[in-house]
Amino acid sequence: MADAIDITNLFGSNVFNDRTMRERLPKDAYKALKKTIEQGLPLSIEVADVVANAMKDWAIEKGATHYTHWFQPLTSRTAEKHDSFISPTQDGGVIMEFSGRQLIQGEPDASSFPSGGLRSTFEARGYTAWDCTSPAFLKEDASGNVTLCIPTAFCSYTSEALDKKTPLLRSMEAVSKQAIRVLRALGNKTSFRVMATVGPEQEYFLIDKKYYDQRIDLIVAGRTLFGAPAPKGQELEDQYFGAIKDRISAFMKDLDTELWKMGVSSKTKHNEVAPAQYEMAPIFSTANIAADHNQLAMETMQKIALRHDLVCLLHEKPFAGVNGSGKHNNWSLSTDDGLNLLEPGKTPHENEQFLLFISALLMAVDRHADMLRASAANPGNDLRLGANEAPPAIISVFMGDELTRILMALSKGQKVKGRGQDFVNVGVDSLPPLPKDNTDRNRTSPFAFTGNKFEFRMVGSSASISGPSVNLNTIMAEALDEVATRLEKSKDIHKEAAAIIKEVANKHQRIIFNGNNYSEEWVAEAKKRGLPNIRSGVDALKCMNTPEAVKLFGKYHVFSKEELHSRYEIYLEQYVKHINIEAQASIYMAKRLYFPTVICFTEKLAGAVERLKSVSAPAGVQKELLGKVSLLLESASKKLSTLEEVTQKAQGIADLTVRGEACRDKVVPAMNSLRADIDALETLTPAEMWPVPTYAEMLFKL
Ligand code: ADP
Ligand code: MG
Repeated sequence: MADAIDITNLFGSNVFNDRTMRERLPKDAYKALKKTIEQGLPLSIEVADVVANAMKDWAIEKGATHYTHWFQPLTSRTAEKHDSFISPTQDGGVIMEFSGRQLIQGEPDASSFPSGGLRSTFEARGYTAWDCTSPAFLKEDASGNVTLCIPTAFCSYTSEALDKKTPLLRSMEAVSKQAIRVLRALGNKTSFRVMATVGPEQEYFLIDKKYYDQRIDLIVAGRTLFGAPAPKGQELEDQYFGAIKDRISAFMKDLDTELWKMGVSSKTKHNEVAPAQYEMAPIFSTANIAADHNQLAMETMQKIALRHDLVCLLHEKPFAGVNGSGKHNNWSLSTDDGLNLLEPGKTPHENEQFLLFISALLMAVDRHADMLRASAANPGNDLRLGANEAPPAIISVFMGDELTRILMALSKGQKVKGRGQDFVNVGVDSLPPLPKDNTDRNRTSPFAFTGNKFEFRMVGSSASISGPSVNLNTIMAEALDEVATRLEKSKDIHKEAAAIIKEVANKHQRIIFNGNNYSEEWVAEAKKRGLPNIRSGVDALKCMNTPEAVKLFGKYHVFSKEELHSRYEIYLEQYVKHINIEAQASIYMAKRLYFPTVICFTEKLAGAVERLKSVSAPAGVQKELLGKVSLLLESASKKLSTLEEVTQKAQGIADLTVRGEACRDKVVPAMNSLRADIDALETLTPAEMWPVPTYAEMLFKL
């Protein structure tokens, strides 16, 4: 029998968490640090020195030799540069040192990270600054190296954000401030901060490493650029929640162990819909920690998979024809004294508060649907959104029948019939109980109310969850700001609250949709309602470049105009580069792998036809096949030339937006068209001749 894991001792054993801090820090230092963490008060260098020293001793006891400022540049990945603790002594030896200054600030030579022109304008260097709201932790690798990781923000000399964390922290501050204003206006005196909370469900694929190593498309682009469908796909629906195979289960066990050590609360795991697809969900935490932990989870999945001779694919659409991977971002707002603001309450007062926050959210999402859509834009998601298995590119909100019924009645000033009660006045009467059962909830909605939180399902599996949280927090801050201002000015709070709820239910009801988001009818209906349907990432990103966006993000100090513009450029450039890599890999595979194979096959067939003819045997079948294959090869060859041509042309376009559009409108279709011929050829060529592993092998041989 396997040794039992002592999870309670294992969990967080590699985290410099509250418990460890309390144990290891002098009382005063602990108190000062807590104040910084909880209230954002500045930390003196003296206290930082004490904390750094305690952190170093703890890390060294656990085997660490190095520390790193761990940050999240605009690549959707994390970055780290390791420094050892050694410091030379007079007598030629070393001591282990780590100062408060080293803890608080770093200066990585970071000129190669994307900055969208921000850094070159000011200063070449980037700075990392300790984010003490996310605890330091130890990372262990297979060879036993242990590194102390300090979560940091990354910015330029003049404090422009160059990372994903800085705006996230700013947006959390913004939404907290406005939410507290609303709570105060409603008479709350006990809450002082409001936290955005996030629980991201992470989908991923696992395939055998021996197949991965033979597929240059998976290696360089993260997805298959070619591949005929396997005889079986996901039609039997036998994978979803199916029994987990031993090999996968062994991987998941190691993954959980590693994540738990680092304090990542991996909670659920299961098989997903597509063959070879899986999901992991942690217990939710503050948006900032959730983002850090999701990065750690993605990184750890990839690392642990390799230890099992597997490769973890985080791409949004690694395989055509089966489901892609997303990330369900569960999001809510909680007060520091434990109130979930999106939880319907039991008392009339709690319900008034709930309805106001729900109204603010509806207002926010309807006004800025484009911003939410933009936050889910990345090259991989273009292949997933609207593909009949993921949310469409149209943003709408699922509220459930009961809540919708209540909101609609309120919008008309009608009485709401609850269970044996009439619900009339907001803030005076109780809401009829909402069904707690989540099982009937709408799985097709991109933004669904699930009882006490919203689930934003558009986010791509490889993306950082920071962007979506930043946009959600900021648009919510704006809506709450408006609500708070109205409440603060009014003499009758209940009346004003009721008026706001009524107004929102009237003005923004078009954003509510409880039906099937995958249907054609919805696309037509959404158009009638005037809801944006932004199919491509290139178009989705454009809203970041508008005066409205500058105003919104500027007002809440989340992004300056320059920061916003730099992000627009960086994301667009990433799209262009990504498509170029895919095009180059497609060209490579066609020229170096598929064409030679197919030419070989045609030669074999031609030889067979010749030989059969020479002995006067019938050669019809061989001849017919040769004809088919040759025609397809000729067609593929023309398509290859087109792809080469349009790729080169696109790369030569000076204007970045136009280049992005050319990639989307010319290069992607040219790749798809070439793929169609190659995939058809795959179905005609002997299996043992085909130069790369097939869909059937990758998806089913585990
Ligand atoms: P399902 O697959 O049914 O959507 P899961 O249990 O897989 O549900 O995931 C739900 C996620 O939502 C979990 O990560 C959970 O911790 C998170 N969650 C629960 N409550 C909140 C909340 N108040 N704020 C943010 N996330 C939450
Ligand atoms: Mg979910």
